[in-house]
Formats: sequence, C-alpha cells, structure tokens
Amino acid sequence: MTDDFVVLLGTKGGPAIRTGSTNPTSSLLCLGGRRIVVDCGLGVTRGLVNDGVALKDLSLIFITHLHSDHYLELGPLLHTAWTAGLKSAVTVYGPAGLDRYWAGFLASMADDIDLRIADEGRPDLRGLVTVLPYSEGPVARIGTLSVEACRNVHPPLVDTFALRFTDGGKSVVFSGDTAYLPALAEFAKGADLLVHEAMLEAALPALVARVGNGDDRLMTHLKRSHTGAADAARIAAAAGVGALALHHLVPSDDPEFTAAHWQAAVEPHWSGPFHLGRDGLRIDL
Ligand SMILES: [Zn+2]
Ligand SMILES: [Zn+2]
Repeated sequence: MTDDFVVLLGTKGGPAIRTGSTNPTSSLLCLGGRRIVVDCGLGVTRGLVNDGVALKDLSLIFITHLHSDHYLELGPLLHTAWTAGLKSAVTVYGPAGLDRYWAGFLASMADDIDLRIADEGRPDLRGLVTVLPYSEGPVARIGTLSVEACRNVHPPLVDTFALRFTDGGKSVVFSGDTAYLPALAEFAKGADLLVHEAMLEAALPALVARVGNGDDRLMTHLKRSHTGAADAARIAAAAGVGALALHHLVPSDDPEFTAAHWQAAVEPHWSGPFHLGRDGLRIDL
C-alpha cells in the first residue's frame, strides 16, 4: 500500500447501463497527497463514496472529452458534494464547451440551489466551482503537480485529450478515448502507469449484432475511434511504462469473453504488470 494510487471507479466503455453492468468511465487518482477525479461518467459519486472519499473535500476534476459516458454525472457529483458540506473551491478542467454544461446544470437546478441557500444556509454552489477550458499542451501547475494534455484521435470529436499527471517523480497517463495513436507512446514515455481504453476486437462482431442498428455504423465508429487491446499493449511497450491498466472496456458485459481473452490479446505485446479494469480496482503506484 502506498499513498499514491489509482482507483478505476467505472470501467465500461459507452454510456448505457443494463442490469448487472459495470459503470461508465470515471477514475480517482491520488498523487502527491491530492485526490483528483478523472472523468465523471454515471456512478462516479457512489464510486468515490464507496472508496472512502469525503465528497466535501473534492477540489480537482478533469474531463477528457465531451461524450456523456465521461461527464454525465459531473453536475450531480458537484451538487451532491455541496449537500455533503463542500465549502471550498473546486476547479474543473475540461475541453471547450464544458462551461455550457455546467451553466445549464446550474440553471436546471436553480430552484433547489436557491432553496438550500435560503433554507439551510449553504454557500452558493455557483461561487464554489470554476470550469476552466484546456487544450493541447500544459494544462495546470498546482504546487508540485503538473498536468499536460495530448490531443488524441476520437472522431468526430476534435477537442479530446489524453492527460498526464506528474508529481513527486511519479507519472500517470490516461489515454482518454482514442483510436490507436502511436504518438501516445511518446506522451506516456516512462510513466509509472498507463490507463488506456480498450476494446476486444474478437468480440466486436457479436457486440454489433447484439446492440447495433443493423448496418455497419457502429462497427465503423468503434474501429475509427477506439483502440484494440493489442494496440493498447503496443503503446505501453513502446512507452516503457511501469504498468498497464485497461478500462473503458468494450465489450464489458459479454459472458462469452472473459479476463483470459483480454490477457491473450495483451500478452504477445506487453509483458509488464497488467491490470484488467473492474469497478473499484485499486492500483498502487
Ligand atoms: Zn467513452
Ligand atoms: Zn468518447
């Protein structure tokens, strides 16, 4: 056990949930004494609480891109933190446009927010949260923590990013959602942990048959916007990272495909420590 770790709170790819499914993407990064939330898919609030995080202590959140499986629960997380006693500032870094989501969320909840300010004496939530846009390059320097972004490939979105967090000589890289991007190996060079999205290509035909719309659009989307597990492993090897974790798993709920299938896809390309994501998995750094 170390003080620096990642918890994969939600590990399925895509926004839909069904009976028995895991949660969409969110992660907790504890680095240099800071708790950082990376992406806020459905389930992030419960995931943090289950992991022992006091929501009132939230201070730093990063969103990789504006797909709902990565930010749908950002507003509810912040609002719930507020009702749990949040009184200090929270900074949310996100791609351009996230400010519209936050303004819209606040507008949709204005009756409740105003009521709780008057009735319960809470500070104004609107004054506690700052949403800052970021793009490629240096994102933030907060004390000894530095954060950099690399534009990845996730069409049709353009403002979509991988993030690298560095503090105290340790680095963690999140790929975000991306097609196979060899340049990501340079961005992730020497990181202690790479958390990469992944799909299991052998399982895609069954997935498309199950949930597709009867044409080739879903398969086309998956192949041009996401990374196969073997390619994620290639990135890890080329980057020389300390460990590889896969999340944003596609598929995440096909009983025909198990951990052994993921392992088999990764093994020929990556021989270092490997973590197959599941909700609540803690990875020490
Ligand atoms: Zn996604
Ligand atoms: Zn996405």
